[in-house]
Amino acid sequence: MAVILYLVIPCYNEQEVLRETTKRLHDKLGRMKTAGLITEESRVVYVNDGSRDATWQLIEEIHRENPLFTGISLAHNRGHQSALLAGLLTVKDYADVVISMDADLQDDIEVLDKMVEEYNHGNEIVYGVRSSRKKDSIFKKFTAEAFYHIMNVMGVEIVFNHADYRLTSKKVLESLSGFREVNLFLRGIFPSIGYKHTTVLYERNERFAGESKYPLKKMLSFAWEGITSFTVSPLRLIAGLGILISFVSLCAFIWSIVEKLIGYTVAGWTSILCSIWLLGGLQLFCLGIIGAYIGKIYEEVKQRPRFILEKNLLEEEKEEDK
Ligand code: UDP
Ligand code: MG
Repeated sequence: MAVILYLVIPCYNEQEVLRETTKRLHDKLGRMKTAGLITEESRVVYVNDGSRDATWQLIEEIHRENPLFTGISLAHNRGHQSALLAGLLTVKDYADVVISMDADLQDDIEVLDKMVEEYNHGNEIVYGVRSSRKKDSIFKKFTAEAFYHIMNVMGVEIVFNHADYRLTSKKVLESLSGFREVNLFLRGIFPSIGYKHTTVLYERNERFAGESKYPLKKMLSFAWEGITSFTVSPLRLIAGLGILISFVSLCAFIWSIVEKLIGYTVAGWTSILCSIWLLGGLQLFCLGIIGAYIGKIYEEVKQRPRFILEKNLLEEEKEEDK
């Protein structure tokens, strides 16, 4: 079945790549139309993320040449995740399915067909997953994979080696619009939405032109965003540490009394040692308690949907009656 497919592509200072990207996508979408996978109404939507170069002028130019390509422009640079969200929420009413990808086409566009096929098999989300990191530097591979592991250990549901190359159905995007948080980490949000999903493997290429807009500093802040937007486990860690240190201080207390009784100590040692440990432990423990409350406030202010219904027989019955 042919679907209306919208591609959402955030672009920040991408004037070097846009022409080539447009050419490649034009050919690819043409082939998908011929194969009967997507309809004529399908579009490529470039999201200009407040670029400082001629990216937006170029998008307008490309749009005038071929209406298959269109775009929206953010008034200011808000970062990749916000640009992506703006694109997804803008196109959700036009498309059956939306696929997000980067402007540099590092993610192999040959798997687009497979993603749409998986959607036709009933999957609402299809995650693009990198099959290997052969082209990454050792540093990048190590830090990236460590990031996925740390997130998993902290209890954040996240798909291993999946960046933001993914297909989502209209239904999923409707659910996404219920997430009102400002601190965005979409890779964590989609798995928490649920629905039937699958993955497709692909090989990631190098950037064909221009430079990466994700230097180490941005990558670290992105990882930090991921952890702090999704889990309160660092707060729990503090409380745990407080309990542990309080316990150690109790042991130190008993030990220092014993030492004093045996007579090995200098005057004042016992009281200083005990008070340092006990106070340190108590302070951390109290911080942990405050942290627990802050954790709850944090969950509340995000106002995430408390549940997402996938099916509702009551509604279906009503539709049938009509
Ligand atoms: N991007 C964006 N806003 C930013 C930074 C990046 O929209 O502030 C876009 C960028 O144009 C590209 C995508 O996010 O389409 C991924 O960026 P990049 O390819 O530079 O990251 P890398 O692949 O090096 O991790
Ligand atoms: Mg890239």
